[in-house]
Amino acid sequence: MGKATGFMEIDRLEREYEPVEDRIKHFKEFLIPLDPEKVSAQGARCMDCGIPYCHQGCPVNNLIPDWNDMIYHGKWREALDLLHSTNNFPEFTGRICPAPCESSCTLNITDNPVAIKTIECSVVDRGWSEGWIKPELPIKHSDKKVAVIGSGPSGLACAQQLARAGHSVVVFEKNERIGGLLRIGIPDFKMEKTLIDRRMAQMQSEGVEFRTNSYIGKNISIEKLMNDFDAVAFCGGSETPRDLPVSGRQLKGVHFAMEFLSQQNDRVSGKIVDKDVEIIAKGKKVLVIGGGDTGSDCVGTSNRQGAMSVTQLELLDQPPEKENKALTWPNWPMKLRTSSSHQEGCERNWSVLTKSFEGNNGNVNKLNCVNVEWYKDSNGRMKMVEVEGSEFSFQADLVLLAMGFVHPIHEGLINDLKVNLTPAGNIDANEAKYQTSIEKFFAAGDSRRGQSLVVWAIKEGRQCAHSIDNFLMGSSELPR
Ligand SMILES: Cc1cc2nc3c(=O)[nH]c(=O)nc-3n(C[C@H](O)[C@H](O)[C@H](O)COP(=O)(O)OP(=O)(O)OC[C@H]3O[C@@H](n4cnc5c(N)ncnc54)[C@H](O)[C@@H]3O)c2cc1C
Ligand code: SF4
Repeated sequence: MGKATGFMEIDRLEREYEPVEDRIKHFKEFLIPLDPEKVSAQGARCMDCGIPYCHQGCPVNNLIPDWNDMIYHGKWREALDLLHSTNNFPEFTGRICPAPCESSCTLNITDNPVAIKTIECSVVDRGWSEGWIKPELPIKHSDKKVAVIGSGPSGLACAQQLARAGHSVVVFEKNERIGGLLRIGIPDFKMEKTLIDRRMAQMQSEGVEFRTNSYIGKNISIEKLMNDFDAVAFCGGSETPRDLPVSGRQLKGVHFAMEFLSQQNDRVSGKIVDKDVEIIAKGKKVLVIGGGDTGSDCVGTSNRQGAMSVTQLELLDQPPEKENKALTWPNWPMKLRTSSSHQEGCERNWSVLTKSFEGNNGNVNKLNCVNVEWYKDSNGRMKMVEVEGSEFSFQADLVLLAMGFVHPIHEGLINDLKVNLTPAGNIDANEAKYQTSIEKFFAAGDSRRGQSLVVWAIKEGRQCAHSIDNFLMGSSELPR
């Protein structure tokens, strides 16, 4: 343990954001890194609890108390090695993870958790800038070939682990660029894409082959892959968006959030977006339906594009400002979360159901809504009723549907293979083996667990790699 009295003497300090008026002028990251001395002092705040709840709160089980201690003692390189022992891409999670570890930290009982995410990101960013992060080549090679379908965080983690175990790994990606939602969904102002390019280069040096524009089940058959490879990992994400099939849904100006967000990421990458299909918020009254990460990213993107106003609607009730720690700690609490995008300007409305869209000349200009109330039925299930007489409308010229994703795309690969699905439509495979109903076909990430987080995708990719290695070789030394 670093400093026994550190948590009493040193205040929590985190990275700050650039001021709103500066950051909404651009699409770059706006977190201001902390000086290394300040990061070390934050490490000293860790109490090295006998039962480190942060460690179980982190989906990849990062060895948090250990690297906190190392940072306090200036052992940055050792901390980096330890960080990489559980997490292939800490620079991704260090920027975009919601940090359930910090909710679980014992110091969070008094609202003052160790700045775990800031420390994590500082360690790995320093590792890159010092040139400490190098390709990790396998000691020996096997004669086994593995295909990974999908290049999101689960596919990347799975591929990197399998290559390090000595197998020949090919990642097939239907898009023209690698990274999954990290590349095409999450805006650059949350995570710049050079971070993915840098990891891709590392993985290529480790032997991973990337094949883009390769849509398995469309321009390459799954049968061919199953014949050509010893094992196949499906890491295709949860790509079917939840729709809002109400009157007026077909009007121009009503779009799925991903259509809007992916265009902006394309623009930032230098790609020209075709004028005929362009969705742009400039000068418009934007309505975002859905209150999660995707909705929040639509808010931040709309403000940067110069929207006239941005309003967000959420079907659920407004959560409490502060959780009841006695009931929730060390678990992830339900409470009001205000993202950096919300701080940049957005009117937020809760308990609102959209009943229909109206338009003029085929373009949306109005949403008709009603307030709802939530209650528990006799089986304890949450039910919703419309509040009589609470009908109202919003003016809007651009509506973005950000209500989540229901399951992976079934047409093509999944239907062709006839692999078993869960009742929710995700690929059925358990968390011990990640093996599906088809022997050499494995699944990990959002396609298996349903829409989730980057840190969970990394965890699943790593565990799936362990299981595939075990399946191919009879045992595995890869960590689970
Ligand atoms: C807008 C948005 C913002 C988000 N923000 C955050 C955040 O801030 N923090 C966080 O932790 N999580 C966030 N998430 C969630 C996170 O991005 C996902 O949980 C994570 O990316 C899932 O990883 P994955 O590898 O399972 O799938 P994905 O990232 O979805 O990658 C799947 C890849 O598979 C490819 N693919 C699919 N089918 C095929 C096929 N048949 N052939 C070839 N390729 C195929 C796809 O093109 C895609 O590239 C966000 C999600 C969205 C949509
Ligand atoms: S990956 Fe997420 S949960 Fe784990 S230590 Fe980092 S910020 Fe915390």
